[in-house]
Amino acid sequence: MHAHAALRFRRLARGASLMLAVFILLLAASTAPAWAQKPTEYRLSFADAAHHLMQVEVTFHDVPAGPLQVRMSRSSPGRYAAHDFAKNVFEEHFTDGKGKALNATRPNPHQWDIAGHDGTVHITYRLFGNRVDGTYLGVDTTHAHMNLPATLMWARGFDNRAVRLTFVQPPGSGWKVATQLYPTNDPFTFTAPNLQYLMDSPTEFGTFALRTFTVPPRASADTGAAAAAPAGAGGLNTKTETFRISIHHLGTEAELDTYAAEVEKIVREEQAVFGELPDYEPGSYTFLADYTPWSDGDGMEHRNSTVMSARASLAAEGKRLLGTVSHEFFHCWNVERIRPASLEPFNFEDANISGELWLAEGFTNYYGKLILLRTGVNDPIEGVSGWAGTINPVFLSPGTQFRSAVDMSRLAPFVDAATSIDPTNWPNTFYSYYPFGEAIALGLDLTLRVKTDSKLTLDDFMRAMWRIHGKPGGPQPGLVGKPYTVADARARLGEVTGDKAFADDFFRRYIEGTEHIDYAGLLAHAGFLVRKQNPGRATLGSLRLEKRGDAVHVTGPTMSGSPAYIAGLEQDDDLISVAGTTLSAPEDLAKTLTDHKPGDEVDLVFKRKDGQEVRAKTTLTEDQHIEVVPVEKSGGTLTDAQKHFRDAWLNSKASATR
Ligand SMILES: [Zn+2]
Repeated sequence: MHAHAALRFRRLARGASLMLAVFILLLAASTAPAWAQKPTEYRLSFADAAHHLMQVEVTFHDVPAGPLQVRMSRSSPGRYAAHDFAKNVFEEHFTDGKGKALNATRPNPHQWDIAGHDGTVHITYRLFGNRVDGTYLGVDTTHAHMNLPATLMWARGFDNRAVRLTFVQPPGSGWKVATQLYPTNDPFTFTAPNLQYLMDSPTEFGTFALRTFTVPPRASADTGAAAAAPAGAGGLNTKTETFRISIHHLGTEAELDTYAAEVEKIVREEQAVFGELPDYEPGSYTFLADYTPWSDGDGMEHRNSTVMSARASLAAEGKRLLGTVSHEFFHCWNVERIRPASLEPFNFEDANISGELWLAEGFTNYYGKLILLRTGVNDPIEGVSGWAGTINPVFLSPGTQFRSAVDMSRLAPFVDAATSIDPTNWPNTFYSYYPFGEAIALGLDLTLRVKTDSKLTLDDFMRAMWRIHGKPGGPQPGLVGKPYTVADARARLGEVTGDKAFADDFFRRYIEGTEHIDYAGLLAHAGFLVRKQNPGRATLGSLRLEKRGDAVHVTGPTMSGSPAYIAGLEQDDDLISVAGTTLSAPEDLAKTLTDHKPGDEVDLVFKRKDGQEVRAKTTLTEDQHIEVVPVEKSGGTLTDAQKHFRDAWLNSKASATR
């Protein structure tokens, strides 16, 4: 409920007759029955952690008449493929409130229907999990690393029921709990207000190290854009927010101190983008890091926390790990609160499809990198030059000729940690919405800066999205009241720029269409040259080759439209000779091509998997890869205007006053 609505209710009740007041109270009670009902209770214990097993006991109270439909999730917030977490559940038992055994039927692989109960359903089951990342369950003698959709059965129709969880500490383990769940007086008991919040709350139960820091609100002088927000958008968050870093690692305290200081810098730099921090619901935001030799690499965003896991150490790869911090923390605005309508509420019963991931993930990717340049974690010149790797596939991936960034986003259920036994043709049909959206963010940021002499930037667009869609919050913690569509994002860009035609054109061409942004023209303003990486170099197109015995084997699909593709060469063929030169190793190809120019017609001999030898002619093309080079390293001079533009873009905003 919003503050102004509560106020109106009070005034009305005071001025009305007693009968009307009673009627309103009854109405309020009947529209919110969840709060009158007993919370669902979970008890999680780990007597057999050595074998990656845990036990879950769950009691559903006040169950309506008829079968209770209990589910294991098929998907997890921030993951877009289906994962079928029911597969690791075993020894499930069902009883009623008096301890009488109940039978469950299985209408589908993910569900148990439990009939004949007395209003209480008690379930115990065991669960196997041995993967430490942001999606699955990892139990061993050092910890229980729990993604809750992979861990907890839940019941249909109980979406708005509160939940109470108790973690049973293995004797002598010293395990503690780190989570975004709401704390209670008991350090092992936590609550969640509803199903969406519960499932969004990964939990580390183990012997982690902890660091805490606080970040105050920014001085109002440097949040001019947010202060100029339309009336009714509400003031800035005036609270000092608390951050916790729980880290399960094998490193030293000093390494952790260094890491924690960098994390704080990143938090402050991202706060400066939006002008304020969100008001984190349980009273803090928690970074849940697992950097051990047995962790799998991942970063997963949540509302008031993030899971970051890596087979790495702070000592060896601290800098790389900060890239995940920067990306995931940006998500506490972008996707967790500025949320695509397609993901709200999240559907735990199926894969979730969203046409907005170019913004939710792609723009987050852009800021994840930009913030590391602004904080000085990474070198700005190297950082900008590195965007060549993001831009190249926008132009060179065959898929971007016929699929837009919105189309690419909708493929997430097939590519986001998805597995398939049959081969796919992604090199020819897909370019990930992460780098694709990142390239669009780069292009839009630079376009806005060029249009307005750096007065208007992508930060202003993100703030507009925050003010309208993120900041207003939702009816309950964990729910977003004003999620956005692609049309909303387009409208916000029109409002921020005061140029609806520009916004419509940009979206039509580069986001919903398949045109590509002129990066060379834009980057020139920042003093960067976009030029061919290998001018005049002849190529057959990108080929994945591997030496197998005496043969040079093609191990991936050839790129649609490339000279090799046109000649008919395909995955699983052996490439025998090019332009009359027999190849005995993959590197022989490049050597052979140095004797040729783009436009030369060459002979190709290759062997199909059935032994058939094919002879074909094809015309070499010029390598189209570009590189991004600072003008001062390419014989030119950085002008004052370019330096000003570059500084406004890449310098810290956290330390600067506007
Ligand atoms: Zn992300």
